[in-house]
Amino acid sequence: MSRIRAKNTAPEWTVRRLLHSRGFRYQLHRSDLPGKPDLVLPRFRAAIFVHGCFWHGHACTLFRMPTTRTEFWSEKIAANRQRDANAISLLDELGWRSLWIWECALKGRGRLVESEVAEKVKAFLYGDAVLDEIGECRAFPIAEEVL
Ligand SMILES: [Zn+2]
Repeated sequence: MSRIRAKNTAPEWTVRRLLHSRGFRYQLHRSDLPGKPDLVLPRFRAAIFVHGCFWHGHACTLFRMPTTRTEFWSEKIAANRQRDANAISLLDELGWRSLWIWECALKGRGRLVESEVAEKVKAFLYGDAVLDEIGECRAFPIAEEVL
């Protein structure tokens, strides 16, 4: 099956702009690396994935399971999540660290201020975590999301 994740999505452009404007340089869509990371910063041994919350099954305000063909979609999303998990462990074996930036960190009502996203990315780059994620702030009570 061909690649499901779209290249060059709006959230991806935002991440690139945030990093570039702060002097970080990166490579795009390295197809030689597991999971084809959206951005790679070799100096930091860091692979960054910008994940669409629907496709990658994020439990957040942007995710809604479709009410039709529910089984089809949940299997598809589960397969994507499995692929994501495999990619991180393969990257880890190769000495790469992974950062997932969720779409909801950049858009929607739970989005973070861009400078905050940039700070979190920087903290990851200069830190030593093998895996980290940046997602929406949880300022809204869950009950409000359900209504
Ligand atoms: Zn999300």
